[in-house]
Amino acid sequence: MTTPSFGSLRSDDDQWDIVSGVGYTALLVAGWRAVHALSAKPLVRDDYAQHFITATGDPYLTGLLKDPGTSEDETTFPRLYGVQTRFFDDFFTNAGETGIEQAVIVAAGLDSRPYRLDWPSDATVFEVDLPKVLEFKARVLDGLGAEPKGRRVEVAADLRTDWTAELIKAGFDPRVPTAWSVEGLLPYLTGDAQEALFAQIHANSAPDSRVATGALGSRLDHDQLAELERAHPGVNMSGDVDFSALTYDNPADPAQWLRDHGWSVEPVRNTLNLQAGYGLTPPPVDVKIDSFMRSQYVTATR
Ligand code: SAM
Repeated sequence: MTTPSFGSLRSDDDQWDIVSGVGYTALLVAGWRAVHALSAKPLVRDDYAQHFITATGDPYLTGLLKDPGTSEDETTFPRLYGVQTRFFDDFFTNAGETGIEQAVIVAAGLDSRPYRLDWPSDATVFEVDLPKVLEFKARVLDGLGAEPKGRRVEVAADLRTDWTAELIKAGFDPRVPTAWSVEGLLPYLTGDAQEALFAQIHANSAPDSRVATGALGSRLDHDQLAELERAHPGVNMSGDVDFSALTYDNPADPAQWLRDHGWSVEPVRNTLNLQAGYGLTPPPVDVKIDSFMRSQYVTATR
């Protein structure tokens, strides 16, 4: 077994496109969402996701889409990413129902919520990610003639910098309540960068703003992933992505950070609670990867 070497492929100002470095993780999870959409009873349907895979021709994800497999092990990540996607979909839907009309999808990647969800009629949805990720996404969606269901604004910015200045330049209004999502991002930031990110969200959140955060594998035990793959030769759970080298070994505690800064935090849910809430019975494979089950999903209101 290789020894995980946290963050060894990273530097403080590294950049990427959709097929390199951290950017590839956005393509990978889009692949899992695409496979989840094909499953018998999907929790969410992202019909755009498959087009990102086709556009790159990535061999691993193209193969996965052609033959996603049917065993519990093979379908683990698509299923769990379906659970995560549903959590954030519900967060934005609920926020919209309470009258929040400004949303920021932080580290949007290839997430297609502006196109999939029914937003309030006056909603503005900001999507923040690095320029090449957003360019690729726009190219594919424009090519499909996809139309966002709310006003969608791209903000190309590095989340390790003063990114909310770019957000405000793009028309974000800090005086109105906002729904912020931080999905699948924190493991890719150092502890200091995570704090700075939440501090910027906090500073730009009017009363009644909401935030949701979580990442599958945020409490990842790399040995468990390796064991799962060893026990099932030929089952590649991660497209050969070396997550340990792309992520930092600093499990965040966003719930505590938010509490400390005066936010009202709902009871934190994990991957097991969420599955139960969506009427799913977690299959036996979940016991083998209990570190994934401890991934935390946090919702808070200012
Ligand atoms: N939230 C999306 C989803 O769940 O489909 C994407 C998740 S993907 C695992 C991680 C995303 O974080 C990538 O799109 C990557 O470009 C973005 N990201 C990570 N660090 C970033 C940074 N410093 N600045 C901007 N984007 C960043």
